[in-house]
Amino acid sequence: VDIPEIRRIVDQASDGYQPPEIIHRLFDAAGIPRVQELVVKTPEEALQAAEQLGWPLVMKVIGPVHKSDVRGVVLNVHDQETVLHEFNRLINIPETEAVLMAEMASGIELFVGAKYENRFGHIVLCGMGGTMVEVLKDVTSGLAPLGICEASSMIKNLKSYQIIKGYRGQEGANQRKFAEIIVRLSSMLRFAVEIKEMDINPLLGKGDRILAVDARIRIE
Ligand code: ADP
Ligand code: MG
Repeated sequence: VDIPEIRRIVDQASDGYQPPEIIHRLFDAAGIPRVQELVVKTPEEALQAAEQLGWPLVMKVIGPVHKSDVRGVVLNVHDQETVLHEFNRLINIPETEAVLMAEMASGIELFVGAKYENRFGHIVLCGMGGTMVEVLKDVTSGLAPLGICEASSMIKNLKSYQIIKGYRGQEGANQRKFAEIIVRLSSMLRFAVEIKEMDINPLLGKGDRILAVDARIRIE
């Protein structure tokens, strides 16, 4: 975890929800693995980004809070024609400032989040991601800073632990790698009390490869 870099980013950030560029820099400084992403504002930039990222890719709106709810997430984009078509559709969705082009990941959906509580500091939460989190309310928590043992216990105490580990031939995600990400996130927060709220939902995990694909960070 690159503490001076984290401080530089947080000191320069304006209040509120952070744009993708700031989130990328924070994750890179904290060593939180993520998919490659590029922000584009024109059809030409979208085509260029596609060449850089490779196929298939994902396109999503930047601006709306719940991107799927406004049909603002397109998975599995395979060709230039679709890039142009979807760019024109996405950029016209209300409140959309730009389009995010991302590498496509796969695996089980995991979640990590944190909230700053005045009297305690950061409370870190984890569980399975996607809509599973909301429906099953299967979430465990711990107080930052978290060590690897505490993070591992948080994972083991989930009801969905068996699914994360993998079951009946379904490949899961490496729990040690997931625990390391929780530790890195909690270390980053230790040096950034200005982060009042954040979540990564989901991270996609398949074996050793666990990547953040959607994140929100609020600084105050
Ligand atoms: P939101 O949560 O705002 O609706 P997300 O960025 O989380 O938008 O995208 C919705 C869903 O699409 C995710 O939960 C995930 O299942 C899938 N998804 C998003 N980005 C990627 C990606 N880069 N690779 C694979 N799947 C993705
Ligand atoms: Mg999401």
